[in-house]
Amino acid sequence: MAKKGGEARTLITLGCTECRDRTYSTSKNRRNDPNRIEMRKYCPRCRSHQLYREAR
Ligand SMILES: [Zn+2]
Repeated sequence: MAKKGGEARTLITLGCTECRDRTYSTSKNRRNDPNRIEMRKYCPRCRSHQLYREAR
């Protein structure tokens, strides 16, 4: 049932919604997060916390 091998696991890039810099990359589970994920992270270019969104 719980398959390993991670076909639902996807590598994504997180891009700052302010400056579009792609600073972070992570992975997500497509089944848990079918939509684009967002999270607040520190952006070194904006030098503050910004909302990061999944980029492709
Ligand atoms: Zn930024």
